[in-house]
Amino acid sequence: MNTSSLPLMRRMADWFSHLMAKSPQRRPSHTEALHRWSAELELSNSTLAREIAERKRVEQELRQAEAKYRSIFENAVDGIFQTTPEGQYLSVNPALACIYGYETPDELMKSLTDIGEQLYVDSSRRAEFIRLLHAHNTVMGFESQVYRRDGRVIWITETARAVRAENGALLYYEGMVEDITERKQAEEELRKAKIAAEAAANAKSEFLANMSHELRTPLNGVIGMTELALDTDLTPEQQEYLTIVKDSATSLLELLNDILDFSKIEVGKLTLDPIDFSLRDDLAMAIKALAVRAHKQGLELACDIPPDVPDIVLGDPGRLRQIVVNLVGNAIKFTHQGEVVMRVSVEWRLENEICLHFTVTDTGIGIPPEKQQLIFSPFTQADSSTTRQFGGTGLGLAISLQLVAMMGGTIWVESEVDKGSTFHFTACFGLRADATPKPLRERDSLIGLPVLVVDDNETNRRILEEQLTSWGMHPVVVESGQAALTVLEAAAAADSPFALVLLDAHMPHMDGFMVAESIKDNPTLAKATIMMLTSGDHPKDAARCREMGIVSYLTKPIKQSDLLNAIVTALYSTPTREPAPPAPFPTKTPSTLHILLVEDNPVNQRLAVRMLEKRGHSVVVANNGKEALTILEKEAFAVVLMDVQMPEMDGLAATRAIRQQEESTGAHIPIVALTAHAMRGDRERCLTAGMDAYLSKPLQSPQLFEMIERLALPDAAHQGEGEEKNEKEPSGVIFDQQVALARVEGDHELLREIVGLFLLETPELQSAIRESISRQDGQALELAAHSVKGAVSSFGAQAACEAALKLEVMGREGDLTQAMVASTELEREIARLTRALAEFRGGPGM
Ligand code: ADP
Repeated sequence: MNTSSLPLMRRMADWFSHLMAKSPQRRPSHTEALHRWSAELELSNSTLAREIAERKRVEQELRQAEAKYRSIFENAVDGIFQTTPEGQYLSVNPALACIYGYETPDELMKSLTDIGEQLYVDSSRRAEFIRLLHAHNTVMGFESQVYRRDGRVIWITETARAVRAENGALLYYEGMVEDITERKQAEEELRKAKIAAEAAANAKSEFLANMSHELRTPLNGVIGMTELALDTDLTPEQQEYLTIVKDSATSLLELLNDILDFSKIEVGKLTLDPIDFSLRDDLAMAIKALAVRAHKQGLELACDIPPDVPDIVLGDPGRLRQIVVNLVGNAIKFTHQGEVVMRVSVEWRLENEICLHFTVTDTGIGIPPEKQQLIFSPFTQADSSTTRQFGGTGLGLAISLQLVAMMGGTIWVESEVDKGSTFHFTACFGLRADATPKPLRERDSLIGLPVLVVDDNETNRRILEEQLTSWGMHPVVVESGQAALTVLEAAAAADSPFALVLLDAHMPHMDGFMVAESIKDNPTLAKATIMMLTSGDHPKDAARCREMGIVSYLTKPIKQSDLLNAIVTALYSTPTREPAPPAPFPTKTPSTLHILLVEDNPVNQRLAVRMLEKRGHSVVVANNGKEALTILEKEAFAVVLMDVQMPEMDGLAATRAIRQQEESTGAHIPIVALTAHAMRGDRERCLTAGMDAYLSKPLQSPQLFEMIERLALPDAAHQGEGEEKNEKEPSGVIFDQQVALARVEGDHELLREIVGLFLLETPELQSAIRESISRQDGQALELAAHSVKGAVSSFGAQAACEAALKLEVMGREGDLTQAMVASTELEREIARLTRALAEFRGGPGM
């Protein structure tokens, strides 16, 4: 019987019994009953027909839905599965069978009876999958490697859910599987390509670094030999040609240095070397080097560092100078008239950290807005046509950007075409608690002193005014010689004459010299002390000042400490520092030194030999470390100049051998490393090997001579003069009074106090060094040597500083094999420094 007719039969039976139940009470006639029966039957039939139609429709819909879902299940691209919690398949679709490499779903279900064990390459993946399902009920994008039927491993991603009964009991899992093998392979390819690209970039940078290093060596020969040739008798034409050769070689060297830096940054090999340094002195030195160029172009170059900026900060002065030189150099390069001003301000300050904001403003050609970002990318210039005119590589700003980032700052530019540019950068520095400048005694005497500033450049006037005011002076500023004379006369007439006049030497209409002459010629004004502010491109200014009896003159841009010193000197005649430019390096030294040059490159050999012989020294050449050792056995030398990279035996090995031999005799020959390496760590490597100092090629004669004579002459002087005591002031490098005074802003009292402290504390530090060496405690050695280094560096004591650094490095690297020798050397340097300091303390007029 068709089960679908069951409800109808039941309803007819119900209806019949209903009729029967009624019949005893009411007995209608047969016809009447029959009519009613047939009417009710009809009604019931039509209801029934409707219900049947409805049912059919629903059944049809169900079939369609079933077919639809079955079709999706059967034809889905992704695999679909239901599994028991134990790991057997309940149902799978053909796609899943296909993904796993089976002909049919049945075949798959029969073959894989334990999914965890049979399917997953790493069987713990199934456990992890189950764990996630239990924890979250659904799992999305679960990636695993699985075995196909043919044993091949593929990558799949699964998305699944746990199906539970109403009471929460787990029934089964169902979900979908996608084959992601291709995507995974693409990802892997990408990863490999990235690694390869990085390796290639590294190789490129290494190549660039090595190339520029290799190129420096021959360039050393070109620059040095040209310098030597320029010192000979030449026709004006030859002079000109050789000057061009030298200039070109020098710019090539700059380019190589840029490339070397850039490639070092790219491979992450460039790091900062933080030390305590004087911000003002360092920036002034950097800018001064550019001043000649600026002044030649008729540009004013000024540096404004207000008093609230601390002077001694902890950072990498070399790298800071590099940024500043690049920005100021660019500003000068791209400015035809007007001025270039560098300013420093405090961005924020914490107890032991400070962020400074530097700006370099010019009145030059400017940079169009669309190029203002671009110029910070490597090898990019705002206008390539300007390159031909101005030169440059387009690397400077890219390097500055990286260096600034390393200093925890940012760099940006504001610029308007034809108006000028301001490059900004911020950089963070460490700060010592005592970094705020100490009040100066000399300053007290300046308080309230009226001073007249005469300068046609507004920025210079403003900076000078700010500076003088900060020292408590009362500056009046005027912009021309004529105005100066008017103000001076008015002041004299009012019986309040100016004690000091700061005069810019180069002004339109009436220059500083004319003003000075008028002052000197006028008896009411003649008492004023005149200080002339000159620029480096007018070498005759100094002579003119001397002729006119103006003892005080300063070269712009003016270092604050120099200005203060010069003012105090000029007003109170306590000679603290000679403000004149340094005397030219003497061409001959009073002593002749016997020098061993260890160098394999013939050009470099000739170059160094000529340089040294011209200076009056005698030189013996060894072609490598081995030869050097043989020569040293037979002959005594005052100093050894040692190349680092050499065949047979390199400079480091040779030095170690020399130092080892010296251990028995207690002798110590100064060894100076000569290297074309400009890599970080070279210096430390050389010092650790036992070298005393380090010069990087190309060799520059002043540095070379200064270094050799510093190392060799104090000893040479003692030996040569025998018992006759050398009464001269100790060499400026054992104790550089100027550096020491500059650090305390000219305060002699304070310096004497510091000297006292140093003399008191140093023996303790020295014994700490000795103890740490005997305990073989590298860390303690590093700490003690670092303290000594800090202490001696305040006296500009380079020799002692180098000796302490050597010990510090040994301590840091934990290699104390040469520490005893280095410590003896440090003690010797400290003894010399102590003598010099004691002399200074007891010195006359101090
Ligand atoms: P270089 O000066 O060696 O070309 P930089 O990276 O230092 O490389 O500068 C990139 C470019 O930025 C310069 O070539 C120039 O076009 C532009 N630029 C930099 N500084 C200035 C400036 N002060 N005024 C105008 N243009 C500048």
